[in-house]
Amino acid sequence: MPDHAHDPLIQFRKVNKTYDGKTFVVRDLSLDIYKGEFLALLGPSGSGKSTTLGMLAGFEHPSSGSITLGGKSLQDTPTHKRKFGMVFQNYSLFPHMTVMENIIFPLRMQGMSRKDAYKLGQTALEMVDLRDPEMGKRKPDQLSGGQQQRIALARALVFEPVVILFDEPLGALDKRLREQMQLELRQIHKRLGVTMIFVTHDQSEALTMADRVAVFNEGRIQQIASPMQLYDEPETAFVASFVGENNKIRGKVIHAQADACNVELVDGSRGEGISPNRLAPDTNVLVVVRPERVVVAPADGYGNRHPARVNEVIELGDQTRLRLDVAGNDEFLVKIPRTRGAPEFQIGQSLVIGWRSQDCRVLRA
Ligand code: ADP
Repeated sequence: MPDHAHDPLIQFRKVNKTYDGKTFVVRDLSLDIYKGEFLALLGPSGSGKSTTLGMLAGFEHPSSGSITLGGKSLQDTPTHKRKFGMVFQNYSLFPHMTVMENIIFPLRMQGMSRKDAYKLGQTALEMVDLRDPEMGKRKPDQLSGGQQQRIALARALVFEPVVILFDEPLGALDKRLREQMQLELRQIHKRLGVTMIFVTHDQSEALTMADRVAVFNEGRIQQIASPMQLYDEPETAFVASFVGENNKIRGKVIHAQADACNVELVDGSRGEGISPNRLAPDTNVLVVVRPERVVVAPADGYGNRHPARVNEVIELGDQTRLRLDVAGNDEFLVKIPRTRGAPEFQIGQSLVIGWRSQDCRVLRA
């Protein structure tokens, strides 16, 4: 678990990065990373995640700003002296070496005897659940993709680094294996308490594994929060769209008090919700609500009630998904758990739907 009681282990301060002197691919990035946390850097391709990780690793240098480890600047520390474990998508194992030689390579580089290194290598193999005694003697090309990735992980764990950096390490694996490795990585993280920083464009991967997720878009961190906070309390329209499914209706703030806010929607109807950024009257906004927080025929006490028309009904074993026309949005999605005796819906049917103000976010359009 992250150790927020102490100073951050790693600090990015106002870091900017440009490769060509014109376009900034990382902008004004300030980020605190705590000892023992599992931090995911999540965002679409090209949003600056790998560049951020690369600057921490020392492959790239900030164009301005600073990065510190334990309060000391990393500016003049070359990659190999930073002593981070690293795991990448393309395994980067040496093909001519055996599995064991690959794993103990970092220890041998540090001058450890072969005998001592083998012992630690064996422990690392067990940590990644490769217990076959013959495993260490094989060559990488005799292994599956999943096994090669475990070896790469064992090589990162073997020298007990304080921090391990991962760049899309599971991207080449099939879905089932990827999900299995996500759970295993999380267990290894819990067991060892090592700080892990993990780049991915896959939101479910980030939400499954991380203590905190930093959501990147166009070189900026949009929000950094726990998975549940990101899901329940998105602070920008980008985060609301990128993490999970959300309905959006265009509107305008008409009244605001602290973070409570009344809006007028494009069709002239009214609603209310939470405005985390405390937007002023007249601001153009997106009113955002999760499909599972919407109810049909709302009881009293729901701050938002709207007429709706059913465009599509999709029955999935455990839930019914309705696509509705609501306040000018004909892609409005509602998820209703399927229980015995639940009402049936027909295309073209008129309904009244609603959602609670606290389940509704009002974000800058
Ligand atoms: P992500 O990891 O989120 O996919 P990257 O950090 O890899 O994003 O890339 C951010 C932007 O920087 C992209 O537009 C990419 O094309 C550019 N970029 C990345 N590496 C280099 C490089 N070595 N030289 C020039 N441009 C680069």
